[in-house]
Amino acid sequence: MHLPSKHSATGTTIFTVMSALAQQYNAINLSQGFPDYPLDEKLADLLHEAALKGFNQYAPMAGLPLLRQSVADDLTKRYGIAINADEEITITPGATYAIYTAFTTILQPGDEVIILEPAYDSYIPNIEMNGAIVIPVALSSPDFSVDWNKVRDAVTAKTKAIIINTPHNPTGAIWQQEDWDALADIVRDKDIYILSDEVYEQLVYDGQKHCSVLNHPELRSRSFALFSFGKVFHNTGWKIGYCVAPPALTAAFRCIHQFISFTVNTPGQYALAHYIANNDAPPLHQMMQHKRDMFLNLLRDTPFTIFKPASGSYFQTVSYGNISDMPDMEFAQWLTKEYGVATIPISAFYSNKKDDRLIRFCFAKKEDTLTEAVKRLSRLSVTR
Ligand code: PMP
Ligand code: GLN
Repeated sequence: MHLPSKHSATGTTIFTVMSALAQQYNAINLSQGFPDYPLDEKLADLLHEAALKGFNQYAPMAGLPLLRQSVADDLTKRYGIAINADEEITITPGATYAIYTAFTTILQPGDEVIILEPAYDSYIPNIEMNGAIVIPVALSSPDFSVDWNKVRDAVTAKTKAIIINTPHNPTGAIWQQEDWDALADIVRDKDIYILSDEVYEQLVYDGQKHCSVLNHPELRSRSFALFSFGKVFHNTGWKIGYCVAPPALTAAFRCIHQFISFTVNTPGQYALAHYIANNDAPPLHQMMQHKRDMFLNLLRDTPFTIFKPASGSYFQTVSYGNISDMPDMEFAQWLTKEYGVATIPISAFYSNKKDDRLIRFCFAKKEDTLTEAVKRLSRLSVTR
């Protein structure tokens, strides 16, 4: 029997590989992006309450109305935009699923999709699983900004979509309003959809603001904005997220969603709905900026080169170029085995496995974890 190959990615995802290696060598896991500190007890209590109160059967296909309304009110409060909870928000089992579903909603075999690399590793397989063709455009080093001429040159009559990600995984770069305006200039008068992966929207540092596609009326009318509660409420394992899109796009999205997962676990939705409606926790970016600053200050005593502090996200990308000339995958494995700290090699985010001797650290960890990790890393020395 012959199993068809649905996409070009071979093997297991880098996040699974590095987390398994971390476990095998009892290393500190700064690879896969998940917190090692607990979620807010109030949220855990609400999950318990949901199960006890009988919220244990299928939720409506689009998501619990209370959660959709809480999300709409929250987005209105934070971005000053009006959102129709019934017609524009769909709750999904995480953002990875929402991205796949949005692609499946719009793509036909032979369509082209532009991605900006380094890019989150699910984009390419998701595009290919729909029979579409990936057109990679490289971000500019060392600040990972977008070269708009390159994007313009990549557009053809077959371009069906562009997927963008801000704050960016793995580089921590963020988009400014000018980036959205430049994208609008390129897609104007063309039938090109935007997928805007904004899972780290609440993690933006140094007083900067997250620029959401939802704040760009011209682009919003052709966009799927994809979000995840996992990174925002420290519960990545709950796998709940949502898609915001104009009514016609939302209707088409739900047409697909209803036949893939149909709905999302009800007690989690109940807990999140009540939690968001009454959320009085300090803004998440304060706590995460503190972690980033602490981590960077410690890291300055190691031979890693920090080109730029992450403006957002969970991640700091650094160069190990003056420590070793090993390829990045080999270096990440060596660091895990020999120094007890697991990271992610950046070549995993490139279709051509481009290797600039960069690795990614996740700093969404307890202070003790970060301190111990850097203590181990400070044994490294400059060798080149
Ligand atoms: N997009 C990016 C850029 C991510 O880093 C992640 C991981 N959180 C996702 C999408 C997927 O989010 P989820 O865990 O909700 O599927
Ligand atoms: N988004 C997380 C990261 O970039 C990992 C999610 C996953 O393991 N697929 O590390």
